[in-house]
Amino acid sequence: MNKCTNCNKEFEGRSDAKFCSDSCRIKRYRTVVTDNVVTDNKASNVTAKSGEPIIGIFGEDIRDYGPQELYDAIAVYAEDSWVNSPEYALLDKRLKAWTEEKLREEGYYVPQWKIKNKYVMK
Ligand SMILES: [Zn+2]
Repeated sequence: MNKCTNCNKEFEGRSDAKFCSDSCRIKRYRTVVTDNVVTDNKASNVTAKSGEPIIGIFGEDIRDYGPQELYDAIAVYAEDSWVNSPEYALLDKRLKAWTEEKLREEGYYVPQWKIKNKYVMK
């Protein structure tokens, strides 16, 4: 039996599955990843040279990943190791660089700090 990381419900599934459902995975993602500002992100210091692929946990180049692919990859990392993942570094970069409108358009969750900063910075 697995225990869901988000709701603690026990569920049947692959032994490495961490969530009972997609909605739990997304909920957990939203609270953990988008509502915390991660300042100690080692992966973001590892900037790929232009033209060089950034290889993620699935062994693929993640530079063309959209939000869902990034969220899925981040959910695969054990415990809190997603913080230092290249997927999170890329996501973090986009969350910081893109406008709230663009993030919404592209299907990203807009983190609380992004919404707040908008008013502070104006
Ligand atoms: Zn659950």
